[in-house]
Amino acid sequence: MDLYLELLDEVILDGSRDKEKILNVYSSFYRTCNKCRLASSRTNFVFGWGNPYAKLVFVGEAPGREEDIRGKPFVGKAGQLLSEILREIGIDRERDVYIANILKCRPPGNRDPRNDEIRACFPHLKFQLEVISPSIIVALGRFSASVLLSKPVERVLSMYRGKVVRGILDVNVLPTYHPAAALRNPGLRGFIKQDIKKAWEYTFKSS
Ligand code: URA
Repeated sequence: MDLYLELLDEVILDGSRDKEKILNVYSSFYRTCNKCRLASSRTNFVFGWGNPYAKLVFVGEAPGREEDIRGKPFVGKAGQLLSEILREIGIDRERDVYIANILKCRPPGNRDPRNDEIRACFPHLKFQLEVISPSIIVALGRFSASVLLSKPVERVLSMYRGKVVRGILDVNVLPTYHPAAALRNPGLRGFIKQDIKKAWEYTFKSS
């Protein structure tokens, strides 16, 4: 039986439901994933980071240069901005949330993700979200929102930014701007903060 099914069985059947262990076993197994062309240029398979029991999960686009080197999501400039916003709201990045990306490997030169890469990588995200089972996901940027809501990438943020929408996998998704966009356009920072605050408050109402 493949590892995915074995681990899924463990999630469903095992009374201990040790999410950390399950995610660690999974990501160690797929460290050498070669389901798409990005395998040949990556340094690290950047699976995710944070509290696997968190009610709030962030999903970004793909690792950048710093993330590729360090093997952790959102540790570069955009990640520093995200951490700052979280701190201002009173969210502890290590304790309160889990952070992942649509793609687990860095596209060369930080180009946009391609459809076949998104398709190849999607089972990793699906597994992650099934194990964590958050009450809400903040989709950071248009690619994440597009995948999680299954809507075209071009208009997804103008239509759904700041709204709680039932997404694929039957999880609520709140799309917002990508922190990298706020580095280029500081006027977006306030919207990101407002949206994350809304998602954070939602986790208390829903538990
Ligand atoms: N941008 C993303 O979308 N994800 C990261 O991990 C870093 C930058």
